Amino acid sequence: MITTPAVGELVPPNRTLMGPGPSDVHPRVLRAMSTPLVGHLDPSFIEIMNDVQELMRYVFRTDNQWTIPVSGTGSASMETAIGNLVEPGETVLVPSNGYFGGRMASMAERAGGTVVRVDAPWGEPLDSADVQAAFDEHQPDVFGFVHAETSTGVRQPNVPELTRIAHAHDAYVVADCVTSLGGVELEVDDWDIDVAYAGPQKCLSCPPGASPLTLSDRAMDKVLSREHPTRSWYFDLSLLEGYWGDERSYHHTAPISNVYAIREALRLVAEEGIENRWGRHLRVAGALKAGVEAMGLGLNPTDDCWLPSLNAVVAPDGIDADDAIDYVLEHYDLEIASGLGALAGDIFRIGCMGYSARPENVALLVAALGEALEAQGADVDVAAGFDAMRGVLGDG
Ligand SMILES: *Cc1c(COP(=O)(O)O)cnc(C)c1O
Repeated sequence: MITTPAVGELVPPNRTLMGPGPSDVHPRVLRAMSTPLVGHLDPSFIEIMNDVQELMRYVFRTDNQWTIPVSGTGSASMETAIGNLVEPGETVLVPSNGYFGGRMASMAERAGGTVVRVDAPWGEPLDSADVQAAFDEHQPDVFGFVHAETSTGVRQPNVPELTRIAHAHDAYVVADCVTSLGGVELEVDDWDIDVAYAGPQKCLSCPPGASPLTLSDRAMDKVLSREHPTRSWYFDLSLLEGYWGDERSYHHTAPISNVYAIREALRLVAEEGIENRWGRHLRVAGALKAGVEAMGLGLNPTDDCWLPSLNAVVAPDGIDADDAIDYVLEHYDLEIASGLGALAGDIFRIGCMGYSARPENVALLVAALGEALEAQGADVDVAAGFDAMRGVLGDG
């Protein structure tokens, strides 16, 4: 017999989200999501679509006509980028220095591509000379790299050099900007990136569901002149063109509330000013970094590839990182995460993204993490952490 489930009212805990995403959502974005639905072809929604595209171009720093939110999470915009750009039999160069380069490789293989790799250790960026050597050896058609590797806390610092190498070999460049867009300097046009994709729930502080994607005309020409249709119907840009291009005809029902949400989230970026927002991430995450360093902890990446939006903090010797993560969740409602892959158990991954990148969150983090480590007997100087943190925040 099927009985009626006794499921109570939804009461989620009130967490502070400083993990690898999602980040805390701005109250204005939550309000936008709870406004009434309109049809996905309603004249008012067409206006909203135009607004989103215009705002997205601003945040990506591009004039690309082909700038849209893809229905789904960051992996959806990622699969749209790779699935459309890569044709069966083409060679795709991807990095091996983090978790998301591996996901790129899987997607490129499923698209029928032949994957080759450029190596760097987890926790380090790609070296231009290695990328040059990989191009000379493999002559790839498509080069994918991760601008902000969320698994290691590494920012790829030499992007213009990488795109120059790729274009000298007539290849197309796909950039994973999921954890950089709206938080860390990113210049799609100036850096000559052909395709960039991102997610809403990292530095844009928006619930997951509609994910930014931008393609240059040159990249879109490649997509529209494919010999074989892309293997996914849902993510086929030649079909999505009908909905997001001039025609505005039905393809699939847009996730209306998520489009409202990203419109508001992008509007918040425009109000703050994109450069100011990058500056805020540098300052607030800089306070976090100074705080944990003064406590006696180190960051895993070197300063020249430090990623403000995701701080990879080395766990002290003899400390169980997962226990400390459980402690701050239980005692402070604070979410941080552990390392992935090669760095599992060795690092804390502490996000400082969008609406979560606020001084009060850094103060909470220093207090909570310090207490969690002391509870395990670690020799950390929490007072010095606070002083260093206040020193940085005091400047602003
Ligand atoms: C989070 C993330 C993704 C995947 O996004 P989802 O929203 O989890 O699908 C891809 N790349 C990077 C670098 C990420 O941080």
